[in-house]
Amino acid sequence: MTIHLRVWRQSDPNAKGNFEQYSLDTVNPHMSFLEMLDVLNEKLTKEGKVPVEFDHDCREGICGSCGVVINGTAHGPQQRTASCQLHMRHYKDGDSITIEPWRAKAFPIVRDLVVDRSSFDRIQEAGGYVSVKTGSAPDAHATPIGKEVADEAFDYAACIGCGACVAACPNASASLFTAAKVSQLALLPQGQPERKRRVIAMVDQMKAEGFGDCSNHGECEAVCPKGISISGIARMRREYFKAILTSK
Ligand code: SF4
Repeated sequence: MTIHLRVWRQSDPNAKGNFEQYSLDTVNPHMSFLEMLDVLNEKLTKEGKVPVEFDHDCREGICGSCGVVINGTAHGPQQRTASCQLHMRHYKDGDSITIEPWRAKAFPIVRDLVVDRSSFDRIQEAGGYVSVKTGSAPDAHATPIGKEVADEAFDYAACIGCGACVAACPNASASLFTAAKVSQLALLPQGQPERKRRVIAMVDQMKAEGFGDCSNHGECEAVCPKGISISGIARMRREYFKAILTSK
């Protein structure tokens, strides 16, 4: 099938970017979206042109590296699907597709479709871990956790840190990401010793990175490839205010 592309090109963080148009007439419907971009890059390389930079790693929806805005939607039209797991069979012969990077002040563009998401790493480093020495792997069920609690913690732990929630939010808020990381540990016994310190540090770091505030638009949940619930944001707010009010 033939696909017409409009791709954001930007040679470095300070360059003025622009859209460039390309047409591919060898797209197979079974290709993934990133494989289609591979075909584009092979074509550009053969023509002696600079290939399009885009982030990718596992290509299995696990690593969170990939992510582009496709026709105005972060990760494209399929719900609960990362860009790497989107397939070209969802498009028709002759379709036009516009591809842009995540756009947010806290995610500066590195080149073309690649943005710097190290602000997420710094939020995680601010407190998204347990510092207790756990020794070697404990026996299974050594710390009993109710199934409903374990399931809920796991749902939050499914966040892959892709950043689509930020890209989709009109305020460029990182609340869904931060809420997922806070909630995952706040629900489990291993996360209790640092519960208050963690939420204060992570929320403060989120603000320091220049992400906007959450005003409950819900766009984040709509585009999240892992279906992280916006109810996590309410949990994070409760955790934050409780921690502020009860910390010395
Ligand atoms: S909450 Fe969802 S959209 Fe946001 S970083 Fe995690 S997986 Fe990606």
